[in-house]
Amino acid sequence: MPMNETHVSPPTPAAPAFQAETPLADAQGIDFHMHSTASDGALSPAALMSLCHERGLTRLSLTDHDTLDGVAEAQEAADALGMTLLPGLELSSQWQGMNIHVVGLLPQGAQGSLVAGLEAQAKARVTRGEEIARRMEKLGLHDALAKARAQAGSDRPLGRPDFARAMVADGLVKDMGTAFKKYLGSGKRGDVKAGWPYLSEVVEWINDAGGVAVLAHPLRYGLTRRKRGLLLDAFTAAGGEACELVSGFQNADVTRDLARQLDERGLYGSLGSDFHFPGGPVAPGSMSPVPRTALRPVWQHPRLAALLAEAA
Ligand code: AMP
Ligand code: MN
Ligand code: MN
Ligand code: MN
Repeated sequence: MPMNETHVSPPTPAAPAFQAETPLADAQGIDFHMHSTASDGALSPAALMSLCHERGLTRLSLTDHDTLDGVAEAQEAADALGMTLLPGLELSSQWQGMNIHVVGLLPQGAQGSLVAGLEAQAKARVTRGEEIARRMEKLGLHDALAKARAQAGSDRPLGRPDFARAMVADGLVKDMGTAFKKYLGSGKRGDVKAGWPYLSEVVEWINDAGGVAVLAHPLRYGLTRRKRGLLLDAFTAAGGEACELVSGFQNADVTRDLARQLDERGLYGSLGSDFHFPGGPVAPGSMSPVPRTALRPVWQHPRLAALLAEAA
């Protein structure tokens, strides 16, 4: 039937991004996953908000690791720039021996059991930082804790990126990617997760605070489709209601398949860049297009819609 067998099918039109008839039609100007200096991001909350504004974002969330400390500054900047900021965070948890991240979109900030949960997370991060430091010492990074602290540049709780930067600065590895690949990434010596609460607990904290729990970057845990389904089942059973459909840049076929997995479980879809620093792989608001999907967007969730409607 084709007139010309050698002619490759025409490129997919660019349009499917945000088609009018899809529920995710109004996805532009949204980014619900970004980091500031309150955790392992490079920009202050206010500087991040300026960049978001420059890039045309209107509805966003600051989601630092295990803390809401950057939100007040971001809120003030977002208000001044006419953007709607949803208070948020990205909680560290564990499930089946893996470090799983859950974004909490928190229109009312920290409430209920999340308050004590955040204190526990901060303590867990301190203890974990000390343990990572002990392990990195053995791997040749002397004064590991002090060096990671110097990289952090403030007294915020340490994360693995601080140790990775210290290793690069000491010449132990050539770049951060190598530091994670050899020492700090999943399953390596510095991947300490013993202190993190279970996935089900962090979901409960978020729900207890009147927020919406969003499973973060489900494609970045190195899981098979089947195992990812089990993770989504566990998350849903714990009361989780949303999942990132698009996190930064990802393959379109994989996104469509993920949309099916979310749809089967009635999950809302969220979007985020997971921006950490300028000049990296993503900028605020930059991510793969959203495919045609019947998923409900998380910004239409009853607990978020009122706050976010003002910005639409
Ligand atoms: P932590 O919160 O201490 O568990 O550190 C996890 C953080 O490390 C993630 O949120 C990323 O910002 C960063 N990270 C994880 N993997 C890598 C990698 N391969 N290269 C650079 N940074 C990474
Ligand atoms: Mn991070
Ligand atoms: Mn994450
Ligand atoms: Mn993140």
